[in-house]
Amino acid sequence: MLRILAAIFLACAIPAHAQQYDLVLRNGHVIDPKNNIDAQRDVAIRDGKIAAIEPSIPANAAKQSVDIFGLYLTPGLVDIHVHIFTGLRHNAWGNGDLSVPADPFAIPNGVTTVADAGSSGWRDFPEFRRRIIDNSRTRVFAFINIIGSGMVNEDDVAEQNEHDMDLDALSKIIEQNKDIIVGIKTAHWQQPNFISVKKAVEAGNRNHLPVMVDFGWFDNKSYKEMVETILRPGDISTHVFRMPAPLLGPDGKPAPYMLDARKRGIKFDVGHGGGSFTFALAEPMVVNGFFPDSISTDLHVGSATGVMLNLPNVMSKILALGVPLAEVIRESTTNPATEIGHPELGQIAVGSVADIAVLRVDHGNFGYADLAGGKVNGTERIVPEMTIRAGRVVFDLNARTAVPWREGHLKYATR
Ligand SMILES: [Zn+2]
Repeated sequence: MLRILAAIFLACAIPAHAQQYDLVLRNGHVIDPKNNIDAQRDVAIRDGKIAAIEPSIPANAAKQSVDIFGLYLTPGLVDIHVHIFTGLRHNAWGNGDLSVPADPFAIPNGVTTVADAGSSGWRDFPEFRRRIIDNSRTRVFAFINIIGSGMVNEDDVAEQNEHDMDLDALSKIIEQNKDIIVGIKTAHWQQPNFISVKKAVEAGNRNHLPVMVDFGWFDNKSYKEMVETILRPGDISTHVFRMPAPLLGPDGKPAPYMLDARKRGIKFDVGHGGGSFTFALAEPMVVNGFFPDSISTDLHVGSATGVMLNLPNVMSKILALGVPLAEVIRESTTNPATEIGHPELGQIAVGSVADIAVLRVDHGNFGYADLAGGKVNGTERIVPEMTIRAGRVVFDLNARTAVPWREGHLKYATR
């Protein structure tokens, strides 16, 4: 009898839902292109993972409930072209250290995953990993440079050194860092040949990885030839809207070889950067239906302090060109995640890691600049409101997760 009473008491004391979640974000508009969700949903998180996505989840089902009505809830943004390392021994980037730390640029911008684009070659990679990658709250992957010394000042001789492409040494480092290295990068090649791209593809074949190409100089070799004859399905051409890339045919529409390349599975990435985004290319391509596969920043000191600024700003530019919001989110989440071989990221699915961006879309009159001083006007601007990394709120612009300080029984330091 006592046992039965105790059981009844317990059943009454603990409601079925009692705080079965750590956090629930309620009343947001979920956009998850990978899983075809574009609707108001409540999203619950437990143990760092997405635990439920429902039309309604009661606030008292979680230890903490946050109302995000009027905001969008998307997968944490994925930026596959950043520069967050400068090797101390081998690199100097000419004009000083142009790399930036990942966390202060990713976290307040809704970005939960980045891939460094070839800042490091095999020589400095262990240091990059120990000093930066293993100490970032942002999830960091890397394309490793085909050049052993990695990126130096782009006008420097190091990235032009065809004798510093040691595939044995490179492959050994890739083997030791399989969990981090997602591709091979070649960049800034100034010579009238495809030596660096071909070597990168050879390294890619050997290690079963995609290649990301920054084409470099257009005046002495054919971009079309590279896209048609060297790149493999899954390889990524970054800086897609960099002048003078021959993307347009005589009719001002996407050139047929670009359409063919897309059909073959070549990926075209924005890589805005400090010199690689022009509306003169972006607008006619986008207006004619050729959206970029992925939107990335080419983040470094120069671009972060210029018209690139940050990933939501670049996303807003693409939005201003007429790409629908859900497509812009696709190009900043599941598409780049899939390009780097991590299709499990960039989605809001039960069981997946709770990497989330909460975004506000402001309506008004906005202007967006390209790198030639050109401008387009837009009526929308994407503004990050919250970032959640593996279930933890790491950025919260309007203090939605805090409590009024007088009511909070907060423990302030006494000394
Ligand atoms: Zn770059």
